[in-house]
Amino acid sequence: MIKVSENVLKELKKIGDFNASMCFSCGTCTALCPVGLPILPREIFRYALLGAEDRLRDESDPIFSCLLCRMCEENCPEGVKISNNIRLLRIYLNKKVFKP
Ligand code: SF4
Ligand code: SF4
Repeated sequence: MIKVSENVLKELKKIGDFNASMCFSCGTCTALCPVGLPILPREIFRYALLGAEDRLRDESDPIFSCLLCRMCEENCPEGVKISNNIRLLRIYLNKKVFKP
C-alpha cells in the first residue's frame, strides 16, 4: 500500500518551481539517460505528484545519482524541467525526510 500526503507537492512548490505535471511517461528521458537510471525521472515524478513520500525515500539513490546533465531534458517533448525537479527533490529529501 502506498501512503500519500498532499504536503509533499506543497513543500516541493515552496522550495521551487516543480513542474512535472506535463509528463506523460513517454520514456524518452529514461532511454537517453547516460547513467542508465532506470526509474528516473518519470516514475519518481509520479511519486512526487501523488505525494508518495515513502517511495521517494526508497528511490533516493537514483535521485542522488543523477548527473544533472540535462540530456533527458533537452529531448523531453513536454518541456519538463527534469534536472531542476531532481534538484528540488534532493532539497526536499534532505529537509523533510533525512532531517536529523
Ligand atoms: S521525456 Fe518528458 S514527458 Fe517523457 S517521460 Fe520523460 S519527463 Fe515525461
Ligand atoms: S539529468 Fe539525470 S536523469 Fe537526466 S539524463 Fe542526466 S543523469 Fe539522466
